[in-house]
Amino acid sequence: MSLLPSALLGAATWGAAEYLIHRFAGHEFAKSRNPFSVEHVRHHATVNYFAPTSHKVAAAAAVAATVAPLASLVLGRRRGLAFTAGLTAMYGAYEVLHRLAHTHAPKTAYGRWLRRHHFHHHFHDPSGNHGVTSPLGDFCFGTERPVGVVRVPRRQAMPWLIDERGELRPEHAADYVLVGRAPPSDLMAREA
Ligand SMILES: [Zn+2]
Ligand SMILES: [Zn+2]
Repeated sequence: MSLLPSALLGAATWGAAEYLIHRFAGHEFAKSRNPFSVEHVRHHATVNYFAPTSHKVAAAAAVAATVAPLASLVLGRRRGLAFTAGLTAMYGAYEVLHRLAHTHAPKTAYGRWLRRHHFHHHFHDPSGNHGVTSPLGDFCFGTERPVGVVRVPRRQAMPWLIDERGELRPEHAADYVLVGRAPPSDLMAREA
């Protein structure tokens, strides 16, 4: 039981890291071309692009291997490992939830919120709504942006948002609208 607070502290630490890494490494210092920003800039340019899972697993392993000895030094070995487990679990949850936001339609109120909040960041204002799994960091640092109907460029639409003709699925009409024209190659492919 005494390990639970350490695990929760690790999970909360990931929540802060998720916000800070995305905001600063991913956006504000993206020009420095750090390893995160290279992937993140590509994710913004090609919304359905994700770094290969093997890279993500390697990154998580590197984070755990770095955090574990530091946390053990501060908290002691058992608490340090619980802290690392909590942090790594939340890191994994973030990766899964972010991927699912792009690939699968929401099933819960939280999933709906997460997608609207995140796609507002993608398509309206990349300087706000940096938190993916939680808006806490955005509220603390003043980067939370109100989300209305999210305008999604037709060419970058998430697969779950559109039907086989490339039109908005009616069940998402309250939250999203498609903007721009389909590329000519798509139109030709559809007419063929
Ligand atoms: Zn994204
Ligand atoms: Zn971003």
